[in-house]
Amino acid sequence: MTNFFTKKTGCHNEDKLFYIFHALPPTDEGNEMKNSSEALSWLSRFPKFEDTWLGLSYAPQMPKHMVKETRQVIAIARKFNDEVAKPLALKLDRLTHEDTDYLPWELVEEANRWGFYTMWIPKMFGGQGYNMPSMSCFSEEVASACAGIMNVIGVHYLAVAGLIASGNARLSKRILREVVAGEKSGKPCVLALATTEPGAGTDVEESDLVDKGHVTCQARRVENGYIINGAKVFISMGHVSSWTVLYAYEDTKHPSETTIGFVVKTGTKGFSFGSHENKMGQRVCPASVLIFEDCFIPDNQVLFSAGLVKKITKKPVRDIAQRYIDYVVSATRPGVCAFGIGVARGALETALHYASSTEINGRLLINQEWVQCILAEMHKNVILGRLAYTEANNANSHRGLYRLLQIKPFYYYLKAMPRFWFDKVIAPALDWELTSRIMGKLYFDLPKPEDQRCCSGWASVAKFAGTDLGVINCQMAIEIMGQKGLRQDAGVEKMLRDIKLLQIYEGTNQLNRLNAFKCLIAPEVPHAKVFDE
Ligand SMILES: Cc1cc2nc3c(=O)[nH]c(=O)nc-3n(C[C@H](O)[C@H](O)[C@H](O)COP(=O)(O)OP(=O)(O)OC[C@H]3O[C@@H](n4cnc5c(N)ncnc54)[C@H](O)[C@@H]3O)c2cc1C
Repeated sequence: MTNFFTKKTGCHNEDKLFYIFHALPPTDEGNEMKNSSEALSWLSRFPKFEDTWLGLSYAPQMPKHMVKETRQVIAIARKFNDEVAKPLALKLDRLTHEDTDYLPWELVEEANRWGFYTMWIPKMFGGQGYNMPSMSCFSEEVASACAGIMNVIGVHYLAVAGLIASGNARLSKRILREVVAGEKSGKPCVLALATTEPGAGTDVEESDLVDKGHVTCQARRVENGYIINGAKVFISMGHVSSWTVLYAYEDTKHPSETTIGFVVKTGTKGFSFGSHENKMGQRVCPASVLIFEDCFIPDNQVLFSAGLVKKITKKPVRDIAQRYIDYVVSATRPGVCAFGIGVARGALETALHYASSTEINGRLLINQEWVQCILAEMHKNVILGRLAYTEANNANSHRGLYRLLQIKPFYYYLKAMPRFWFDKVIAPALDWELTSRIMGKLYFDLPKPEDQRCCSGWASVAKFAGTDLGVINCQMAIEIMGQKGLRQDAGVEKMLRDIKLLQIYEGTNQLNRLNAFKCLIAPEVPHAKVFDE
């Protein structure tokens, strides 16, 4: 090998050149580093090992039982698909075209019966405590049958993330235990989360943007609480939810410094619903207008206020608010990637079935090379998207919101302890002021900025990768199926309408690209500025 290079170049300094090209030091030491600090200096170069090879770094720390649990989750999702989601997907889509006021009450009751609204609520809050990353696998499965039905289940966990990431243990417990009670009684208690306003969608997802936007939902301080005025739009499951996690601003001119999170119960005086959108896809999952007119919310329903968190950390209020937003979206965006990959898989499976059962000029489509190439490409897209959400979940599991839940001893402790232990011993402790202070400290003071950037950046990469790949796969499926793919009863037409929405919610894919640049690339580039326009 050495000779091959040196002979060819005839270079005067041939040995040196060879070793530069092959990255081996020209000594007898072979490829060993002098010491671990030398290795560290190579590994901390861009792209940093810690930020890049997450699965490799963290797989050994993963509790083994998570695999068993995830297999169980996938099996349940497949059963649900066969018995509920697949038979209903097109029927419900058609129904929502005939009746634009349709709300999915029966579907919510069915999902409640299957236990889906408590499955990923941690045991300490009364839920079933399945590991969080397994929810992405569940989402892929159910979205492969219907992304709309998956959102009827999944968006509830956007609000669950909003509760848990606040560090407010007392209020999280109060609401989540109502969800658990709703499962037991057969009267579902589903949650929604409301940030988007008529004049501010993308802006409210970033502290750097929110001050330049046009937020109007105002929280005015009064005795013992706040008065809310304003509106929220496109709130998934708004009409069907029992509680909404709501964000409003004390000073709408300086929202980044004055964000307050509340929980508000449906039926509260001054809180009403407008229409729900007659939208392109995921029609079974309503997107509601929420109206607040002099709506009083008492102090004991204040979930999060950067001003309050300030008591336990010296960090600037803006950073605390951004940290909170990042916790929530870093947890939910990998799930949205999984929705997208579910649709990508649904499109692949539909195209595969069509190609295996359709002849053109006496030859099965599946035996034509161009079709095989497209199917292989679609399969590749599914695999890549799955890797993206898996890595984003690895980031959350080891450097983000789920870190505590997945430390091996704590994970097994939560698995082993009986239900009464959580109900009688842990639940009362969640009401203590001290518990919320400790959680606040753990969430907002101790974590390192590079961990936040890693989780947020990976979540964004997964989000735009998975949803873009979903669109591509739907288009490829229609390519294989021709005009038959355009028919409503073929299924792919609906998938394409459903997936388009996924590119927009949880931050548009443009915003997620900018956030990925901000978190994963810009820190390495001196003078790079993001969200500067
Ligand atoms: C089906 C569905 C369900 C939803 N569910 C919820 C929900 O449950 N709760 C909730 O709060 N919201 C929800 N939303 C709202 C969603 O989060 C917003 O639609 C999204 O944040 C984008 O905001 P926007 O639609 O106002 O677009 P805009 O912010 O008006 O953006 C328009 C375009 O401009 C681009 N753009 C805007 N600002 C920038 C910038 N600074 N830099 C670069 N590009 C920019 C965007 O990428 C986009 O292409 C839902 C939306 C949909 C479609």
